[in-house]
Amino acid sequence: MKIAIIGAGAMGSLFAWQLVKTGAEVVALDQWAEHVQAMQRDGLIVECAGHDLHVPLTATNSPKEIGTCDIILFFVKYGQTTDAAQWIAPLVGPETLLVTLQNGVGNADRIAEVHPDNAIAYGLTTLTSEMLGPGRIEASFAGKGETYFWRRGGQPDSREEYLKDLLNAGDYAAELDPDIDLRIWKKLVINCCFNTICGLLDCTVGETMHDPETARIFDALIAELSAVAAAKGIGITPAAARSYLEEVGRDAASHVPSMAIDLRAGRQTEIECLNGAILREGARLAIPTPTHALIYNLIRAREQISSRRQAMGG
Ligand code: NAD
Repeated sequence: MKIAIIGAGAMGSLFAWQLVKTGAEVVALDQWAEHVQAMQRDGLIVECAGHDLHVPLTATNSPKEIGTCDIILFFVKYGQTTDAAQWIAPLVGPETLLVTLQNGVGNADRIAEVHPDNAIAYGLTTLTSEMLGPGRIEASFAGKGETYFWRRGGQPDSREEYLKDLLNAGDYAAELDPDIDLRIWKKLVINCCFNTICGLLDCTVGETMHDPETARIFDALIAELSAVAAAKGIGITPAAARSYLEEVGRDAASHVPSMAIDLRAGRQTEIECLNGAILREGARLAIPTPTHALIYNLIRAREQISSRRQAMGG
């Protein structure tokens, strides 16, 4: 089976590395020309546990070169999903399985808008990675995370089984899980609370865990998220969500979430598929989400201030 990875940034490259290790036929696609050229020249360099691993990887920024693929794995950011789905149209045949393990809610729907007749699997990974520069990533927690996915609107078949088995063979723990929405919404608790508040306060996860002010914001975000989830038939009680937040807060105390790093760098964030998704679902289900709205508006305003400053050369 031929596998393409769309968006060979931090996570796409991490997964490409593991899949290549199993001997699978893998091609990495990315629109960042300098990064693709570096991988074509030197292979992918993975910094892992203090060592540089050189991974030979087929990389291109020309989808027309590749031909039809059996599985296409999306690892672009949410705001890039629709463009990426259109860009890879030459790779998509009627039997191609499209897979998203991106963060948040809504990526699978965006892919389905572009490829309505294809099977789509969606899920999440708790692995993490960082882009260090063209052709180079750091596998921050390589091998310690889990990956879960399931077929959107149906049952997985041999293609999902194949991908799951490859990931397990490549040292990542992967499972097909029919309760995938519950897992995604649990991760949404973490992202809607820590990513945004660390971004706005410019701090680590652990630094948000000490003060009554941040505790009150987390409680309000969790109450609204739980109400929206319940209306969708996804059971996350506020108490369970709070205890999960505290567990992750302890385990990842020194972590600075990607949204905080994106805001520092003046980049767009994935707020639309995090608190933005809670707002949209809340509005659809007539459930008030004022705290998510406030946080969403603050992050969007900060993004827009940064982009105006950049446009003025600041
Ligand atoms: P990234 O920015 O490192 O990688 C995205 C890549 O997509 C970039 O290399 C970019 O050049 C490329 N790209 C942009 N637009 C494109 C297009 N239209 N077509 C093809 N390629 C395009 O991002 P990341 O950190 O790897 O995150 C990817 C997804 O994984 C996000 O949804 C993120 O939330 C999620 N995620 C990240 C981590 C992490 O530790 N980095 C962990 C779990 C989940």
